[in-house]
Amino acid sequence: MITRVSNEVQATHCPAELIERKAISANLAILRFRVSEQPSFTAGQFATIGIAVDGELVERPYSIVSSPHEPFLEFFIELVPGGSITPRLWGLKLGSVILVRRRIVGQLILDTDVTHHLMLATVTGIAPFVSILRTQQIEREHGATTNHQFVVIHGASQSADFGSYRNELEQLSRAGWLTYIPTVSRPWAEPNWQGESGRIEDIVRKYSDQLAFDHCNSVAYVCGHPQMVANVKAILERARFSRDQVKEEKYFSLDAID
Ligand SMILES: Cc1cc2nc3c(=O)[nH]c(=O)nc-3n(C[C@H](O)[C@H](O)[C@H](O)COP(=O)(O)OP(=O)(O)OC[C@H]3O[C@@H](n4cnc5c(N)ncnc54)[C@H](O)[C@@H]3O)c2cc1C
Repeated sequence: MITRVSNEVQATHCPAELIERKAISANLAILRFRVSEQPSFTAGQFATIGIAVDGELVERPYSIVSSPHEPFLEFFIELVPGGSITPRLWGLKLGSVILVRRRIVGQLILDTDVTHHLMLATVTGIAPFVSILRTQQIEREHGATTNHQFVVIHGASQSADFGSYRNELEQLSRAGWLTYIPTVSRPWAEPNWQGESGRIEDIVRKYSDQLAFDHCNSVAYVCGHPQMVANVKAILERARFSRDQVKEEKYFSLDAID
């Protein structure tokens, strides 16, 4: 995919080779890349992926799913038909090379001033939270003592869209420091679905109150669809979370598609 890059781009970007691809549905996939020099980052941050489009480097940000302790970069990506980058990412073959900016940034990282973390994600918005939770798990396995507690509410229209992360987070939740709540917004399409139903907005107050992850002790992290982010921020504000207690990452702008 990338054949020749300028010296300027070489200084700021690293080649990244596609080493694994898992299709979750027709428009959701998990991609893993081996980067020539694994960049340093904090769990919860995002990478900027660059791909050649008509000879120009086009870049988009993607939250990193993998932990900084893992030797690859993993992404959970939704195909946007007609988009500049995602149809090209779908066209990559194993061994294809793209570019990743060396500098990894983002504010959706663990706030270590509190012990209770309320994480809310639509579909691919789970990415930064998986990175944080994998990191917690790996560090706990290596003897780290931490008293962080997590509640993750993961929303999607159908359960297939949780991908393998549902199973991964259900496994992690057995250790007692994570409560994982997947919720589907079209339960009528899945009569056998046993879990929560409704949008994140419909159930966030219930779990925040029930599990006592509230404005007295918690930070909330909200990631993914901009409408969910806006709705949940308003709900948390009414639940007395201050601005400093809510971190957000919107994956696109509603204005752009109006
Ligand atoms: C900090 C950050 C982290 C992100 N992390 C992820 C991630 O982990 N996984 C992921 O899949 N995406 C993520 N995104 C979105 C990603 O950067 C791209 O915007 C998206 O993949 C579309 O890129 P594109 O070039 O194919 O489409 P573009 O050419 O950029 O967009 C085409 C049109 O589609 C709209 N659009 C973009 N995304 C969507 C969407 N999901 N649904 C509906 N319309 C959309 C755009 O606003 C635009 O109008 C993130 C965005 C940000 C800001």
